Amino acid sequence: MLQDSFRHQGLRRQLVAQLREKGIQNEMVLEAIGKIPRHLFMDNAFLEFAYQDKAFPIACGQTISQPFTVAYQTQLLDPAKGEKVLEIGTGSGYQSAVLAESGAKVFSIERHKPLHEETRKRLDLLNYFSIKTHYGDGFKGLPAFAPFDKILVTCGAPEIPQLLLGQLKVGGIMVIPVGSLTEQVMTTVIKKPGGEIEIIHFDTFRFVPMLGDKVR
Ligand code: SAH
Repeated sequence: MLQDSFRHQGLRRQLVAQLREKGIQNEMVLEAIGKIPRHLFMDNAFLEFAYQDKAFPIACGQTISQPFTVAYQTQLLDPAKGEKVLEIGTGSGYQSAVLAESGAKVFSIERHKPLHEETRKRLDLLNYFSIKTHYGDGFKGLPAFAPFDKILVTCGAPEIPQLLLGQLKVGGIMVIPVGSLTEQVMTTVIKKPGGEIEIIHFDTFRFVPMLGDKVR
């Protein structure tokens, strides 16, 4: 199962070239995408398509985000070695792996228990032991591990969750797609040293919705 071949590596190089063309410039992000075997984060049925720049279905009716979206969000977040990063929506664990490649300490929450369990096993198999995964409701964050330098939300949120904002360090940044069920605007929320909040809007995306409560 854990096979990574020269063919896969070649397909990844092509994907990285495509992402560069689409405007991704952060070298850490491109290097991580060039290194991580995305096909090992997907269901068998979609293996052939793993290095297309597309989202694909995973367990529990969710999706593994499109590589461009992962790169776009990670570039805005700009994680660095040693920083504490909270991700909402573990899903397949692919985005968590990209964050971990920056050297950040990654905490990730998933509300679907079977997905949380399956992904934990996958991350262990791929030696991503440093990524801490939690089963819970991302709207509540992880108060026991707060505050975080950076917060990345990988599902479409109806608004900026205030509990998450409360767990962000002063000087920290949250990257979050905010909008309706069908369309969200990528948004950065920066907590300024004086305590005020700066909000900047970017491009439009379509994520699976951020929903409250846990699912067993
Ligand atoms: N980062 C993932 C993207 C998965 S899609 C990846 O790289 O594969 C978004 C995920 O957010 C889904 O798995 C969904 O179940 C999860 N999610 C939605 N609402 C949530 C919430 N309130 N708390 C935690 N996870 C949530």
